[in-house]
Amino acid sequence: MASAIFKEREKQVYLKGSRPFDLECEKESLAGAVSQRACVFCGSRVVLYPIADALHLVHGPVGCAVYTWDIRGALSSGPELHRLSFSTDLQEKDVIFGGEKKLYSALVELIDRHAPKAAFVYSTCIVGIIGDDLEAICRRVSEEKNIPVIPVQSEGFKGNKRAGYNAACRALFRLVGEGSTEGISPYSVNILGDFNLAGELWIIRDYFKRMGVQVVANITGDGRVDDIRRAHGAALNLVQCSGATMDLAVMMKEKYGTPVMRVSYFGIEDMAEALYGIARFFKEPSIMERTQQLVREELSALYPELQRYRKALSGKKAAIYVGGAFKAFSLVKAFRYLGMKVVMVGSQTGTQEDYRELEAITDDGTIIVDDSNPLELSAFLQEKEVDIFVGGVKERPIAYKLGVGFCDHNHERKEALEGFVGMLNFAKEVYSSVMSPVWRFVPKNSQGMLDGLSSHKEKILRCVS
Ligand code: SF4
Repeated sequence: MASAIFKEREKQVYLKGSRPFDLECEKESLAGAVSQRACVFCGSRVVLYPIADALHLVHGPVGCAVYTWDIRGALSSGPELHRLSFSTDLQEKDVIFGGEKKLYSALVELIDRHAPKAAFVYSTCIVGIIGDDLEAICRRVSEEKNIPVIPVQSEGFKGNKRAGYNAACRALFRLVGEGSTEGISPYSVNILGDFNLAGELWIIRDYFKRMGVQVVANITGDGRVDDIRRAHGAALNLVQCSGATMDLAVMMKEKYGTPVMRVSYFGIEDMAEALYGIARFFKEPSIMERTQQLVREELSALYPELQRYRKALSGKKAAIYVGGAFKAFSLVKAFRYLGMKVVMVGSQTGTQEDYRELEAITDDGTIIVDDSNPLELSAFLQEKEVDIFVGGVKERPIAYKLGVGFCDHNHERKEALEGFVGMLNFAKEVYSSVMSPVWRFVPKNSQGMLDGLSSHKEKILRCVS
């Protein structure tokens, strides 16, 4: 394991049980280590683009705008303006003379053509360098077109993806508080940090409906501008992906006093606990009764099926590398439920608090890693002889090249993994991948692959020095 870790990153990798817990995190990525993290702009896009009736305009070179709906498929039950990717396509001349005129014309043309409820304008690296006044242009267009036009200060070089989440939350906060709160029930919630991948948010909304809890705004999935404007009227903010949306919840708590609850809709344990936690919060016996009934119904349908997968998967080994750590907690529990052992777990943007929680719920010998890279991940998978790797689009080729099963748990997934039904889908997917006969034809743990990794590291070190 040690041979794959750069000296400067040694404190960002921890082997549980080897020493008292100490893991460094929330650091800038090491140059040359090929971090799996995306840029600030990408972080802001993840949070904002599921607002389906808003215009999303990327102010920058066309290449930045490649990060589109096609890469991350948040579904909408109505308008689909978020699926169109717009860019001001800045060229050399704009970089020299400024891109403000181009931005103004693009905004006016797009608003006239698509009649959005609001517009978000994303600042990219080059805009931060040439200093276009986004705020002034957005204010001018907002006054002329009479819709909110909101600048997102997401210059890619300003930090990492986490800074992009913060920029998005600040942009969203400008919308909150503008709408009427009439007709909002005292038993109401906002859903933050659920991106409605594969329609997952609709599963969760259905649970809330059965419990008698009103949803005011699904802020980050199947989102609508008018719902977000009245989100301050909800009795409770439910935060799932806390790295991405906790900043907004904190701002709403400070200004409007909206209480915050962290939840996870992944896995049986966490899904049930999320629903019970909400029922306990409202202190309304009829909501608790309906919740108990719901959980009973869902579990009685699920248990027999899950037992079959559990029998087949018992003793298999899993590795997890995800964007935010919240998902990792639920995945560790879900694998344990399936009788599997998690031998490596890491995230791109976890905090000290997140990693302490991971350390508490994992077994001795588990590798816990922050802001990893393909070199390390490949070595960990090999050393731990993993049967399945859970990650996103950037981790998939690592698994396949090593002859390891893979489960996509990121924003590209097409299978709903949230809710009770999501646990069944997860078990099915893990089973299909781990048990696939294809792995019999792949030479695992080949020395050639490890040699290749070592020479790759040497090449990087030569370039860096
Ligand atoms: S790092 Fe900068 S140039 Fe690259 S995609 Fe992000 S905003 Fe665009």
